[in-house]
Amino acid sequence: MAPSSNDDQGYYSDFDEEDGLVELDSDDEIASGGKLRFQVLTEDAVRAIQEDRIASVADLIQVPPAFAAVVLRHCNWSPMVVQDRWFSDEQRVRDAVGLPSTGVVPVALKRNDAPVTCALCFDEHAVGKMRSAGCAHLYCCECWRGYLRAAVEDGARSLSLRCPDPSCSLAVVRDLVHDVADDEDRQRYDRFALRSYVEENKKMRWCPSPGCALAVDGEQCGDQVDVLCSCGHGFCILCTEEPHRPVACDTVRKWMEKNSSESETTNWVLANAKHCPKCRRPIEKNSGCNHMRCGSPCHHQFCWICLGPWEEHLTGNYNCNRYVAADDSTFRRQQAKASLDRYLHYYERWAAHEVSRHKAREDMFELESTLAALGGAAAEESRTQIGFLMDAYTQILHGRRMLRWTYAYGFYASGAKLTLLECLQGEAEASLERLHDFAEIERNSAEMYFDGGGSYFKELARLTKQAANYFESMAEAFQTDLA
Ligand SMILES: [Zn+2]
Ligand SMILES: [Zn+2]
Ligand SMILES: [Zn+2]
Ligand SMILES: [Zn+2]
Ligand SMILES: [Zn+2]
Ligand SMILES: [Zn+2]
Repeated sequence: MAPSSNDDQGYYSDFDEEDGLVELDSDDEIASGGKLRFQVLTEDAVRAIQEDRIASVADLIQVPPAFAAVVLRHCNWSPMVVQDRWFSDEQRVRDAVGLPSTGVVPVALKRNDAPVTCALCFDEHAVGKMRSAGCAHLYCCECWRGYLRAAVEDGARSLSLRCPDPSCSLAVVRDLVHDVADDEDRQRYDRFALRSYVEENKKMRWCPSPGCALAVDGEQCGDQVDVLCSCGHGFCILCTEEPHRPVACDTVRKWMEKNSSESETTNWVLANAKHCPKCRRPIEKNSGCNHMRCGSPCHHQFCWICLGPWEEHLTGNYNCNRYVAADDSTFRRQQAKASLDRYLHYYERWAAHEVSRHKAREDMFELESTLAALGGAAAEESRTQIGFLMDAYTQILHGRRMLRWTYAYGFYASGAKLTLLECLQGEAEASLERLHDFAEIERNSAEMYFDGGGSYFKELARLTKQAANYFESMAEAFQTDLA
């Protein structure tokens, strides 16, 4: 049974392998961020839903299913839009898609058995060997086959094919295609039809992950447009870029274009080693948080991003996220250099959050397997403690992702918006660095793990809650575009 579009009950909760619907991995931070309102679908499930929709629209507007498919496609596959447009101006819809002006005209056949001349090849054929799109223009099957082949070669345009007669605009629907086209062309046509359902549906996308053939339906998502495919790939259903809430798709597109045009510079920045600001030893980052500790004998503690002393990152004057133009009068920077500096400031932070998030994700997978290995016999206490850590990591993943995109936003922001952003971003980022740092300390000192860790986990929970609050305020401010 295919889920019906009219049947909201169970539509988004019945995950059944037999229907081709796929279970979601609800441990991911996207899924756990809100209610699961999107649906991951296999090609077969997409096909079933598409057929279901076509049948119900055929019923609604009283036309054969093949014509209903054309009308639905014209309305971006939305039965609601069909209903609106058809019942407010049926004629207009008929004209737009090439439906006969009233009813559906049956194929016009001559009454006697005299052969008919095909208007394309001028050969004579028995009437039974002739076909039309539902108008009076009869062509032989051979000519139709060639006509359809050329159309299919042309791609998805074959879905809006019209009668070959130049004066006629009647739609060539799939019944006719299935009747006369070669097997191969028919399959290609059906494939275009299936793809069109996903690609022309405003809230539906093929998963952009390479090699993944699943589609995600976000029609019921509302404001939640970050979705998660069953393959583990998360993306924005509107622009297919990685999830980037609360920053808008437009900003993300501009930023990604900017990055690809600056890729030479940014590669150089990322490839270059950093040095301890105190002893100049080259440093390597292998933790997720940005708190760096130089080895013996230096022991200097500093920030990986800005190389400033770490103490400054713990006080109220967190400044790591603010871009401050170098004001050096002896060495007057040129405007071009200054603008590059500014870009690199944002780029480095945007890139670093992803690196940190990646590391945190690995750590979280490890925690998951630890939890699984504990089994049912494990002490309740250990489970609770790992639960606190999982909560912390969920917040870290969510926060890293959100902060990452606020740097894309920051690059294009100015004036009061930028000031407000820097304030909210600074608070959120400082709280997240504290949390991430604290969560990682724990992972390095196993003795705290199962005993005497009570106060540690209390503090961890407190830092998680605190970070969650800061991120909530920031997300709230973005709802009004920081105005
Ligand atoms: Zn012909
Ligand atoms: Zn015609
Ligand atoms: Zn996928
Ligand atoms: Zn987007
Ligand atoms: Zn050092
Ligand atoms: Zn810093």
